[in-house]
Amino acid sequence: MNSFAATIFSLLFLLTTSNTSLQAQQIALTFDDAPMRSGYFSGSARTDTLLTALKNAGVEQVAFFVVTSRLNAAGTARIERYAQAGHIIANHSHRHQSMRRIGVPNYIDDIFIADSLLRGFAGYNPWYRYPFLDEGRTRSARDAIRAALTGNGYQNAYVTIDNYDWILDALFVEGHRTGRKIDFEQLKALYIEHLWNSVQFYDGLSREVLGRSVRHVLLLHENDLAALFIDDFVYFVRRQGWGIISPIDAYQDAIATIVPDVLLNNQGRVAAIAKAQGYTGPLSQQSEDRNYLEKKFNQLIFDQN
Ligand SMILES: [Zn+2]
Repeated sequence: MNSFAATIFSLLFLLTTSNTSLQAQQIALTFDDAPMRSGYFSGSARTDTLLTALKNAGVEQVAFFVVTSRLNAAGTARIERYAQAGHIIANHSHRHQSMRRIGVPNYIDDIFIADSLLRGFAGYNPWYRYPFLDEGRTRSARDAIRAALTGNGYQNAYVTIDNYDWILDALFVEGHRTGRKIDFEQLKALYIEHLWNSVQFYDGLSREVLGRSVRHVLLLHENDLAALFIDDFVYFVRRQGWGIISPIDAYQDAIATIVPDVLLNNQGRVAAIAKAQGYTGPLSQQSEDRNYLEKKFNQLIFDQN
């Protein structure tokens, strides 16, 4: 190969590999349990802060999964603001109840009460995010709910990356409430580290089980930590070579049409596919653990009190 041909070859090689990695490493952001009650921020201040952070970070579209029993006047106004900013509004049930406790018929009713309350919002999509990611503990319950959803034009708004952002948020809000001195830089670092551990773990599982990096859907909550640090997390993710995509793009991935025949769905779709394929390795990572996070929190965030 002469030097000109060698240069062209290496340029082509670089283009191909960088294209592959750009296309492969993509992630959509989704926020459950909106509108969440006041914590560190009041509800409306949290909405302001979160919208500003997303805008500043250049994230054009995320999805908010709404628990419609929380739609009093102030809650409704917050969801309208998310919709007006171009984000997707979708269904996370009316009362966020346990399927096992209320039974399948009541559970299905609850989904469609929420549906009727959400249809008027701009940005509404017929997507259902299962509370607790619990798709049913028996095949009959699971299949009855799946049939009700598809029969009504609904898509399962699965996640691929599970994590415990809600435990970190609960520890933060409790620390704030009880007057603990909080190291916000350490808190930001711990939040990003925990989320990134989860991204890497489930992306590794995706490569191992499916032979590729799927278009990921990250489960977050509409909480104070998201409002405080989502822009920093997005900058961090981009520095690792990943891109942020709309949830609409993420649900174009081929795994959106794979419905694994398993009862373990509460760690996301990639883990469910792994389980269905007989994968025997771990389906969650080290920091997806309450004790681990509590210990880290006490060491890092409250230490200097
Ligand atoms: Zn939830």
